[in-house]
Amino acid sequence: MCVSMYSAVWSREETTERNYYTRYHNMSEITAWMEQMKRENPDVVSSMVYGQTYERRNITLLKIGLSSTVRKKAIWMDCGIHAREWIAPAFCQYFVREILRTYKTDTKVNEMMKNLDFYITPVLNVDGYIYSWHNESTRLWRKSRSPGTGGCTCYGTDLNRNFYANWGMVGVSTDCCSETYCGTKALSESEAWAVTDMLGKMREDILAFLTIHSYSQLILVPYGHPNISAPNYDELMEVGLGAAKAIKAVHGMDYTVGTSPDVLYANSGSSRDFARLIGIPLSFTFELRDKGEHGFELPEDQIQPTCEEAYAGAQHIITYTHDKAFYSYAATVTATLWTTLLAAWVSSAILLTIICLYKQVK
Ligand SMILES: [Zn+2]
Repeated sequence: MCVSMYSAVWSREETTERNYYTRYHNMSEITAWMEQMKRENPDVVSSMVYGQTYERRNITLLKIGLSSTVRKKAIWMDCGIHAREWIAPAFCQYFVREILRTYKTDTKVNEMMKNLDFYITPVLNVDGYIYSWHNESTRLWRKSRSPGTGGCTCYGTDLNRNFYANWGMVGVSTDCCSETYCGTKALSESEAWAVTDMLGKMREDILAFLTIHSYSQLILVPYGHPNISAPNYDELMEVGLGAAKAIKAVHGMDYTVGTSPDVLYANSGSSRDFARLIGIPLSFTFELRDKGEHGFELPEDQIQPTCEEAYAGAQHIITYTHDKAFYSYAATVTATLWTTLLAAWVSSAILLTIICLYKQVK
């Protein structure tokens, strides 16, 4: 029974590939899709289970990149930390499809696939996402699915308030029935712990951290706390504004760039802030379409244009990140080489002059 149902999902996905990325997909379809990506691209795609949800489901990422003999740098992207933001997992799927579709022919994508590995989690809050697909009354579920404690009968913690980043300070609730309930303590949720553990292991390699949400059309930079500023705030803003420009060039949509307190509301305990706090230099939250007309229930006919423009924005950030890391290094090596050659030439000239003068004197 299970096998035949699974086969049905397979065949539906494979025969409708052209329309696949214009629809929302439930968790079992996304899981099957991850297997399909690995099977179709065995040289560049692998998967890794890096944690479990409260309901004991696997949290899985796709690792995408060309094999290399040297240690590679990494880009992190996660989608679906908030269950009801269905456009986010759809974007992660689109992003994966695009880099796999283009890396053989697009020289820039190819170069980045050689130097970088992409760690992409299509659905982080797996329990919540499955619950949001359950029926109409659960469609707008946001949080995890862990039960309340201390007599509170509500379910779920806001995973994006549960990270160890000024936890519990601003823009959170301690009422377990609230949509922004931050949990009993930082990292009380296994999903937040899983991401924290991975980022901790990889933090020296991760150059950029992108976490995808909806809605509001924003690109948010650290930090969510109004009194704290990132040391590279100017760089984050410049890169964010560049991404917004790239987004606008695709379908004319306006995305606003700034810190949460400046353009949305103050908050603490987010994964974006945690990533920046542990030293990942470029950390951004994308809030995709729209601005409230449909909100979390973005119609399927907007999936493709939303993903196209967001892809341009993400590529702007990733290209900047890549070039900064690899061209700066190459430029340093080249400059050092030229300096050495120049020094050798000057030394030779001086030596020759001394020899000539010595001969003349003699
Ligand atoms: Zn969200």
